[in-house]
Amino acid sequence: MATLEHFNWTHSFFELGPDFFQAKSPDPVAAPYIIDANPEAATLIGLDLAEFERPEFVEYFSGNRLLPGAQPLAMDYSGHQFGLYNPRLGDGRGLLLGAVQNGSGHAWDVYLKGCGPTRFARGFDGRATLRASIREYLGGEAVHGLGIPTTRSLAVIGIGELVFRETPQPGALLVRLSDSHVRFGSFENFHYTNRPEAVTQLADFVIQRHYPDIANEANKYQLLFRTVMHKTARLIAQWQSVGFIHGVMNTDNMTLTGTTFDYGPFGFMDRFNPDFTPNQTDGHGRYAFGRQAEIGHWNLTKLGETLTHLIAPEIITEELEQYQTVFNRYYLELMGGKLGLEILDSEVAGLVGTLFQKLYEHQVDYTLFFRRLADFPRETPANLRAMFNDPADLDALLDLYRKLIEREDPDLDDRKEKMNRVNPRFILRNYLLERAIDQAMKQSDYSEVERLRILLQDPYNDRPEIFKRYGIDPELYAAETPDSHVEMRLSCSA
Ligand code: AMP
Ligand code: MG
Repeated sequence: MATLEHFNWTHSFFELGPDFFQAKSPDPVAAPYIIDANPEAATLIGLDLAEFERPEFVEYFSGNRLLPGAQPLAMDYSGHQFGLYNPRLGDGRGLLLGAVQNGSGHAWDVYLKGCGPTRFARGFDGRATLRASIREYLGGEAVHGLGIPTTRSLAVIGIGELVFRETPQPGALLVRLSDSHVRFGSFENFHYTNRPEAVTQLADFVIQRHYPDIANEANKYQLLFRTVMHKTARLIAQWQSVGFIHGVMNTDNMTLTGTTFDYGPFGFMDRFNPDFTPNQTDGHGRYAFGRQAEIGHWNLTKLGETLTHLIAPEIITEELEQYQTVFNRYYLELMGGKLGLEILDSEVAGLVGTLFQKLYEHQVDYTLFFRRLADFPRETPANLRAMFNDPADLDALLDLYRKLIEREDPDLDDRKEKMNRVNPRFILRNYLLERAIDQAMKQSDYSEVERLRILLQDPYNDRPEIFKRYGIDPELYAAETPDSHVEMRLSCSA
C-alpha cells in the first residue's frame, strides 16, 4: 500500500507534448477540509487508508501542495455541445495530475476538479461548487455500484471560499479517478484545426494505453473505432437497463474507453417516462432517456469524422451501421437479465416493448417494478399490483411473461436470486441526493453523503450490520420518490 508521497506515477499523456495541454499547477485555496473520503477509491490507486488521516491528504488534494511525482496539466479539447460545435473547451478548471498504477497493474488517471482557472477557462473562475462536487462524487459511486463503467472519486474537499454562480455557494474540489480522460472532443479538437498528425498521435496513445491487443494489427484504427463503438453501445445499454439519464451527452463528455463521464444534471428514472431528462437546460429533450442510444450513434459519427485520414470513410460508415445491432444485442441481454429470462428471442423483445408501454401509461416506478417482479410467478405481490391504475393491464402482461418463464422451466429460487442481483433495491434518486447536499451546505453535516456512499456501493442487498452502524433505514432509501419530487430537474451550473 502506497503513501501519498510514493504513488506509482506514469505520465504517458504528458509525453505527448505541449500541443495537447497546458502544463500548470493548481492554485492554492483557503482552509480546505475533507467532506468525504472514499476507501474503495483509495484501494483502486493502492493508497493506504491511514493516509486519509494525515494533514497532507488535504494539502495535496486541495492543490495547496503538489503531490510528489505529479505532473499537472490541463487537456486541450473541443466538442459538440447540444449538437453544435464549440471549438473552445478544454480543462477550464481541472488538472490531470498523471496516472497512478495500482498493485494489479491497472492505471487510474488522477484528476483535480475545481483547482483554479487554466488557459481554457474562458473567463470562468476555475472553481467547482460543493453541491456539484457531491453530485459527481455520489453519482460515480452509484453508477459503479450498479456495475457500470464510470469515473470514481477519491474525495470531496471543501474549501473556505465561496464561489459565485447564480448565488454565492460553498466551493469544493473533487478528486476524480478515471481510466481515461481522452474524450471524443479531444479528437475533434485536432481534426477541426487541421492537425491530422495530432489525431493520429492521440489514436496511437489510446491504443497503446487502453487497447494494446490491437496495436500490431494492420487495421488497428478501424479496430479502435469498432472497440469504442462497442464500448459506447454497451455503456448506454447499461444506462438504459438501470434507468440512468446522463443529461449532457456532449462529445466532450464521452471517453474513448466507454466510461460514464462528467456528472452534471444526471438522474435516475422515477416513474418510467422515455421523454424525461433531468437537465433543465435541455428544452428539446435532446438527451432525454429514450434518445440516449441514438445520441451515442450521433457522437460516434462525430468521432468517426476525425479519423478519415486513418480509416476509409466507407469503412467508418460500415462500422457505424453495426451500432444499432450491437446496442440491441447488449440491451436485450440486459433486459432478459432483469426479467430473469435466458432465451432471448423476438417474443422477449416484444414483451419488453409492451412492458415499457404499460410502465409509461401507468406511471410505474421503474426500479421498484423490477425489484418486485422477482417474486413472480410464485406470487404477484400486492405492492406490484398496486402500481397499476388498471390491474387488468398488468395481468395481461403477466400472462405473456408467465409463458416465457415456463418455457424455460427455471428453478424459481435461483431465478429470484439472479434477478435481485441485477435489479437494484436502492438507486440514487435526486431527492435523496439533494437532501444530502442540503445538509452539507446548510448544517455542515456530511454524514448523509457518507451514508449514501455506503448504501450505493452495494445497491442490491440489505446489509443489516452496516446499515445499523451508519444509521441507514433501508425502507426509507428504497421507497418511491415522493410526488413532490418526481422528475426533479437541475440546471447545468447547479
Ligand atoms: P462541463 O459542463 O463541466 O462539461 O464543462 C464545459 C466546459 O466549461 C469545460 O471546458 C470546462 O472546463 C468549462 N468550465 C465549466 N465550469 C468552469 C469554471 N467554473 N471555470 C472554468 N471553466 C469551466
Ligand atoms: Mg465536460
